[in-house]
Amino acid sequence: MALNPASAFGSASAGDPYLPTSGNGGYGVLHYELDLDYRVATNRLNGTAVIRARATMPLERFSLDFAGLSVVKVTVDGERPKKLAETPRKLVITPEHALAEGQEFSVTVRYRGAPHPIRSSWGEVGWEELADGVIVAGQPCGAASWFPCNDHPSDKATYRITIACEAGYTVVSNGSLVARSSRSGRTAWTYEMLQPMASYLATVQIGRYRSREIAQDPVPQSIHFPQSLDREISIDFGRVPEMLALFESLFGAYPFDSYTVVVTHDELEIPLEAQGLAIFGRNHVDGVHGSDRLIAHELAHQWFGNSLTLARWRDIWLHEGFACYAEWLWSEASGGKTADENAVAHRARVALEPKDLVIGDPGPARMFDDRVYKRGALALHAVRRRLGDEAFFAGLRAYVAECRFGLVSTEDFVEIMQSSSGDDEVGSVIDRWVYAKSLPKL
Ligand SMILES: [Zn+2]
Repeated sequence: MALNPASAFGSASAGDPYLPTSGNGGYGVLHYELDLDYRVATNRLNGTAVIRARATMPLERFSLDFAGLSVVKVTVDGERPKKLAETPRKLVITPEHALAEGQEFSVTVRYRGAPHPIRSSWGEVGWEELADGVIVAGQPCGAASWFPCNDHPSDKATYRITIACEAGYTVVSNGSLVARSSRSGRTAWTYEMLQPMASYLATVQIGRYRSREIAQDPVPQSIHFPQSLDREISIDFGRVPEMLALFESLFGAYPFDSYTVVVTHDELEIPLEAQGLAIFGRNHVDGVHGSDRLIAHELAHQWFGNSLTLARWRDIWLHEGFACYAEWLWSEASGGKTADENAVAHRARVALEPKDLVIGDPGPARMFDDRVYKRGALALHAVRRRLGDEAFFAGLRAYVAECRFGLVSTEDFVEIMQSSSGDDEVGSVIDRWVYAKSLPKL
């Protein structure tokens, strides 16, 4: 939907052509406060979301992404709206009093229902029941399956999330656990994420988990897992502190206040990242470090994807190419193949694939194509070869520091690498690897 500048209606789209129906215009969210009461046994959710936002234009009407649950009551600054309309994917609110540009306002939505994943071109995303618990995998448009939100990564906000469910389950969400209380067989868990977070990275994980601390420095690192995997978990995740130290030395300080790993009882097709967390399936655990590559990949997303977040989905290589390159960096540092050996091997493999993809704009259907990952990592390796290790990693740290907790584009990366290194050819290396279809030589 195009935004008519003369209207005071906030657009029902963030204007991202990859997900044209996601996100909303006319305001920016500052903070989400979610208070959820959930019954694992029956998959029933009762929720209250308090969304504090600021209007970026005069607003007579605005919308939120919300799908699959029933709205009980909405207020804007404590008042019932003049009009409330629900479409399958949006909640459209006309407040009693129009909002002025720059005005802060608060929307409270009470809702309930049986949450379920949203069908998308990328499979089912969002809130999903496990055999005995819950997983939330929000990327790229699943957040609306469990709370009303402005579901586009360009609108980051802080979060406070409380979830109450039956005692006996462990509930994990983003950030630090700041409160836990039990009453009549139910336990409420409150988590706070104080750093800005994209909605797709908001998560809830519920299961009958055992919990263990992995390390305390530089931030608390902990893991929640099925008791039967105790021995394998200690081995496979025992090197997380070492990995974290390596990435801090290469990319700069770990961005968040804690790092939490969840291993589900269920098998998962792929592991996934959330802000301050990574989630693996039981099938990713073998007790012989068989998933080291994936553990490194998900950890690296804390810098690339979570702290530094794409402003437009076309730049997905800034998340996946970097996380893939981090796999090679860990391999090199831990005595496996060097990044150079990995690059040579993967270039040879990518060379056998069709040359029909521009990884800097792969199109929505091929956002998660493996070439975005591998060729993205190759692009970084090509920049590293051009600049040398010292200038390359100094540039990478400058990029991470300057864009910390913010939004990024490929242009930002090129600009910072060039100004940090003084080499204005970084742009043409990126042009060849990221914006062309033909495969350059390393
Ligand atoms: Zn990834």
